[in-house]
Amino acid sequence: MSADLVAALRAAVGPAQVLTHDDPGADLSAWEQDWRKRAHGRALAVVRPGSTAEVAAVVRACAAAGTAIVPQGGNTGLVVGSVPDDTGTQVVLSLTRLSAVRALDAANLTLTVEAGCVLQNLQDTAEKAGFLFPLSLAAEGSCTIGGNLATNAGGTQVLRYGNARDLCLGLEVVTAQGEVWHGLTGLRKDNTGYDLRDLFIGSEGTLGIITAATLKLYPLPAAQLTAWAAVPTLDAAVALLGLAHQHLGAGLTGFEVMGQFALGLVDKHFPALRVPLWQDSPYCVLLENSDSESEAHARAQFERLLETAFEQGLVSDAVVAGSLAQAHGLWHIRESIPLAQAEEGLNIKHDISIPVSSIPAFCAETDALLQREIPGVRLVNFGHLGDGNLHYNVQAPAGADAKKFLNEQETRVNTLVFDAVARYHGSISAEHGVGSLKADHLPHYKDPVALGLMRAIKQALDPHHLMNPGRVLTP
Ligand code: FAD
Ligand code: ZN
Repeated sequence: MSADLVAALRAAVGPAQVLTHDDPGADLSAWEQDWRKRAHGRALAVVRPGSTAEVAAVVRACAAAGTAIVPQGGNTGLVVGSVPDDTGTQVVLSLTRLSAVRALDAANLTLTVEAGCVLQNLQDTAEKAGFLFPLSLAAEGSCTIGGNLATNAGGTQVLRYGNARDLCLGLEVVTAQGEVWHGLTGLRKDNTGYDLRDLFIGSEGTLGIITAATLKLYPLPAAQLTAWAAVPTLDAAVALLGLAHQHLGAGLTGFEVMGQFALGLVDKHFPALRVPLWQDSPYCVLLENSDSESEAHARAQFERLLETAFEQGLVSDAVVAGSLAQAHGLWHIRESIPLAQAEEGLNIKHDISIPVSSIPAFCAETDALLQREIPGVRLVNFGHLGDGNLHYNVQAPAGADAKKFLNEQETRVNTLVFDAVARYHGSISAEHGVGSLKADHLPHYKDPVALGLMRAIKQALDPHHLMNPGRVLTP
């Protein structure tokens, strides 16, 4: 049976683009292991179609054989959603060969690209044409736009430009039946019924396969300035955010918060990065001001903002980057927190969201709760405060066996944190999605009517549950 399917797949995409464990010297681990090394599955085959028609042919062949498909882009996802399970029965459908830029419409401010286009290449293409594609995250050198849309990725400029969903106008999708939905419109307005685009965005490969997208472009800012401020409390950080909105308006494109322990890990593992102002403050904040006038204008705005913040006691010390290189250096420190955490050892990651106004109370309550329940536990708290989205990560106590900690405490820690999130009317995933890691938790926290509607949609679009089964919704 599986030999027939492999033969059908080879006929669909060419023999060189179907990899199996039976191939001499085969090593499929790049497709079978997730980025965080949380899971290592075994694929029946890895298939790499080179066109939408080939994707459709692969889906039809798998549907005919009753074989499950795991779509995969850059495989940078953080919730174990893009790798096969360990049964050896699932086909990994890699989109990385579908990477062409199909069209740029300067007057319509849109760019149409294929799903496997690496985010950084897409940003570069936009920039060379004089535009900004504002989706930006630390994995941009290897994640793909298809994966970004499938997970509705966020990143560092959501505050101003929204997440992947807000940047997408149209999609081309191969359905679970192997049909092609040609929805690549560049329309900003279209009220002709249910929004299928928004259904596929964020569906984590469980409803169909995104093969191309039409995306929004923005004008490049004339200047981008970055500031780093030490704040005395989280309440002060929230008040500073309000002040920054007032002073900078639409120019405020980034507002990140970083806890002292998180920055201490960067200082410990990457001392060459020279983390500023972290030793004397519980939190530091990174602000970005994108200005359509000039650098001088942006600098003057930042100075007025910081002066007011000092007067109000919201900031205890601050630096404004003097050059683009310095600005990149400050962002690099922020983006190095997850890497420093990985250096420190395995950890429990969260990407929760809470209304911004409740974040200080949530953190005070949940920090104390975790300390009480698991003495010595270390909290690596940082994230996109401007979006109310925290990476409220939990690291084993110093000196403890991190693997053992993860095995024994992950479910308990997740439950403690997610229950607290629910008390504050937040979400258990603001960015990374549900994947396999949170699929068991979702039914406890999602509105039951919403969950029922999600199941009905899954049943209607993928009645045989062949599209990334077990992800988002448990059987
Ligand atoms: P994959 O990991 O390959 O897949 C992710 C999910 O999408 C899987 O469920 C997969 O089945 C599905 N999928 C992939 N392609 C398609 C497709 N074409 N059609 C249908 N389904 C598909 N995420 C954020 O939101 N914000 C961040 O700031 C952020 N920072 C990160 C930093 C680092 C260092 C790393 C490693 C990850 C980070 N992530 C972040 C998570 C990750 O990069 C994003 O989820 C990204 O959008 C995944 O893209 P990918 O191409 O790697 O997708
Ligand atoms: Zn993030």
